[in-house]
Amino acid sequence: MSAFNLNQLVRPNIIKLKPYSSARDEFKGAAEVYLDANENPFDTGLNRYPDPLQWKVKEKVSALKGVPAENIFLGNGSDEVIDLLVRIFCEPGEDHILILPPTYGMYQVSADIANVGIRIIQLTPDFQPDVDKILAATTVNSKILFLCSPNNPTGNSFQTEKIRALAAGFPGIVAIDEAYIDFSSQKSCTELLSEFPNLVVMQTFSKAWGLAGIRLGMAFASTEIINYFNKVKPPYNINQLTQTAALEALENKAQQEQMVQTIIGQRALLQQYLMSLEFVERIYPSEANFLLVKLQDSKGTYQYLVEQGIIVRDRSNVALCEGCLRITVGTPEENEKLVQALVEFK
Ligand SMILES: *Cc1c(COP(=O)(O)O)cnc(C)c1O
Repeated sequence: MSAFNLNQLVRPNIIKLKPYSSARDEFKGAAEVYLDANENPFDTGLNRYPDPLQWKVKEKVSALKGVPAENIFLGNGSDEVIDLLVRIFCEPGEDHILILPPTYGMYQVSADIANVGIRIIQLTPDFQPDVDKILAATTVNSKILFLCSPNNPTGNSFQTEKIRALAAGFPGIVAIDEAYIDFSSQKSCTELLSEFPNLVVMQTFSKAWGLAGIRLGMAFASTEIINYFNKVKPPYNINQLTQTAALEALENKAQQEQMVQTIIGQRALLQQYLMSLEFVERIYPSEANFLLVKLQDSKGTYQYLVEQGIIVRDRSNVALCEGCLRITVGTPEENEKLVQALVEFK
């Protein structure tokens, strides 16, 4: 993008905002006695406020992802990152986001809560973004384009040339949600950050790291965009328990890799077994930890599985996913149970 001007995209009230200054913002060094934050002085293990900018976690994430720590923001799940993006860039009642259904539901919910408009451009039937249509639908009020790659619930990645064309041509922020990137054969778009100043790449500890319970999402972007995230976020948005658990997990990358490899292997096996069932019409290629499966009788199959104590996600009412269930890849034992139940169906 030539002549990219971030401040033209940010809401004027956010540019002017004087952020909350916490005790930990005002004194950052090491001291013997801390009497500045009205904390309880007795050591419960958690009596102190956590680091508001989570530098230890960010340094570990930085080493792992090859992105400098000052280009990283951590949120209370990716969901907080999505919500902050909308609140930083979109003026309620004036601006809008663009979404490409079928896709993750939180982009729309965050915009709806903020009274921010939504422009909907369906993915093409092969689940790729329609670049020309998207760019033709943009106006000066188009502030954020959400791209989910690999996409939920379709499971495919978007073609890199399409992502590049959108990053180059979209006048606002292009937010790429990479929640499933560790299950994908494609490279992360973090490598495009130096080329496109309007890019925000989101990842999460909820899927590949097996830590959905700690609520920790990552955003990678220019320092200017990261500074706006830090300005708007709640002062202590990542609690101490979460920071400690993340540091522990990051020390043990081998375990994460092992889980991811097992899930990818199970995905292939599950696909193979499901293909052999006559009432399975189609299994879409997946670069994520789930399969989108088209069935002769998706509703009936869903109900049957519930009766067997197996819960999958019914996506059959979603446009372009008609007749489909979204099935998360489980442990080998869980997948075995699913396949066994389906073999006995009908
Ligand atoms: C699961 C998922 C997330 C994760 O959100 P968290 O708030 O980090 O748990 C984000 N985006 C997509 C597309 C997802 O499917």
